[in-house]
Amino acid sequence: MDKLKVRQNDKVMVLAGKDRGKVGKILKIYRKKDRVLVEGVNKVQRHTKANPYAQTPGGINEKEAPVHVSNVAVMCDACSNPTRIGVRTTEDGKKVRFCRKCNEIID
Ligand SMILES: [Zn+2]
Repeated sequence: MDKLKVRQNDKVMVLAGKDRGKVGKILKIYRKKDRVLVEGVNKVQRHTKANPYAQTPGGINEKEAPVHVSNVAVMCDACSNPTRIGVRTTEDGKKVRFCRKCNEIID
């Protein structure tokens, strides 16, 4: 069973930090570190030097940095709220995620 209840492409709201309240899509999950990369959230500026051999221009690149999974909450499409996720087993034995606020199945 997934320890993390988030999945790639989930819509999540950021709960802490400078991007608190922002909503974005999960681009990547780092399971070992319990971190997720959220589109447009926690942007950091990377100052890169031009490298003529690799043809990369120098300058400042903006890039998302991963945030800890405890700092995001999955958005529920049914009630459009950030919510806690529960997992329950359906009658045919499948595990599904559901919204603890409105009980709607999220998967
Ligand atoms: Zn809901």
